[in-house]
Amino acid sequence: MRDGYGRTIRYLRLSVTDKCNCRCVYCMPATGVPRCRHEDLLSFEELTEVVRAATTLGVRKVRITGGEPLARRGVVDLCRMVAAVPGIEELDMTTNATMLAPVAADLRASGVTRLNVSLDTLDPERYRAVTRVGTLADALAGIRAAHEAGFGSSADSPLKINFVLMGGVNVDEVPRFVDMAQREPVEVRFIELMPMGECALWPRERFVSADVVLDACPELVRIGTGGVAELYRGPGFAGRVGLIRAVSHRFCSACDRIRVTADGRVKPCLHSAAEVSVRGFRGEELERALARAILMKPARHELAPGARPSATPRDMNEIGG
Ligand code: SAM
Ligand code: SF4
Repeated sequence: MRDGYGRTIRYLRLSVTDKCNCRCVYCMPATGVPRCRHEDLLSFEELTEVVRAATTLGVRKVRITGGEPLARRGVVDLCRMVAAVPGIEELDMTTNATMLAPVAADLRASGVTRLNVSLDTLDPERYRAVTRVGTLADALAGIRAAHEAGFGSSADSPLKINFVLMGGVNVDEVPRFVDMAQREPVEVRFIELMPMGECALWPRERFVSADVVLDACPELVRIGTGGVAELYRGPGFAGRVGLIRAVSHRFCSACDRIRVTADGRVKPCLHSAAEVSVRGFRGEELERALARAILMKPARHELAPGARPSATPRDMNEIGG
C-alpha cells in the first residue's frame, strides 16, 4: 500500500517486548522503565495476525525487535509462526546478542535470515558502562554462535553489527570496528544517535555526524546504498561498512516502514507521537487500522539534536528502533 506521499510500505517492525536484560544509557533510564504487564503484550497469535493483515496491504519484510526480543519467552516459536505467514519474504531480528548463544541455531532454523547485533564497544569495562549491566563476553559469544549458525555466510543471510556513535564515549573505537568489517563477513553499521527518550537532552557533543567514520578511515570507498544505509568498502574487505545518517541526512522520503509497539499500537513514524491501536482487532478491522496508520505517516521528521528532540513520548525500548 502507498502512504499519503506515494511511498510504498513493505516493512513492518514488531516490538515483541519492552523488557530488556540491559539498560543502555541512551535507551533506558538507570532504574529501568515500568514494563508492560504480560497481559498487555500482544500474544503470539495476535502478533501473527498483525503480520497476516499487514501482508494483505503489501508488507513483505518483518523485523522482530524489542526491548530485547530474546527476553520474550518462546520468541523462536513466534519467529516460526511469522515466517510461515504467506507473503512474508524476509524475517529479521535485532538483538543485543547477550542471550543469543544458546538459541542462535534454533533461530536460524525458525526462518530468521538476517540478524542485526547491537555492539557499541569492544572494551569490556566500557561495555558494562554503556549497557549498565551487560557483559561483553556474552555478546561476543552470541556473535560467534550466530556465525556458526550460518548468519553472515551469504548475501541472503547477513550478520550486521549496529554501532551507535556517541561523541566522547566510543568514537575512538571506529577504526577497530572498521577493522572488523575488513576481517569478517559482517556489515558494521555506524548509526547516528537520535535525540529521543533517555538521550533527548544529552549535550550537543554526544551527537556526531557519521562523517567521523570517513574522517577516521579514508580508505573507505562508497559502493552504493542498502535500505537506509550508505555502503562503503576498503581494499580486501571481507565485509562492508554502513553509515546510517538518521539525523544529519534524513531518509524520510524513502521510508517504507511502520512499527508496532509491544502493547499493540502502530506507529506511523518513529519520531511522531501519533499511534493507532490494533489491540483486540482481527481480520478486516485490523487491516483497516493498519491502513489508517499508513495514511497517517508524516512527510518527514523534524529532529535536531539539542534543538528539537523526537516528538515521540516513548523510550526506544518500547518501539524497537
Ligand atoms: N535490544 C535490541 C538491541 O539492542 O539490539 C533491540 C532493540 S534496540 C531499541 C534497537 C536498536 O536501536 C539498537 O541497535 C540500539 O542501539 C538502537 N538505539 C536505541 N536508542 C537509540 C538512539 N537514541 N539513537 C540511535 N539508535 C538507538
Ligand atoms: Fe536493551 Fe537494546 Fe535498549 Fe540496549 S538498546 S537497553 S539492549 S533495548
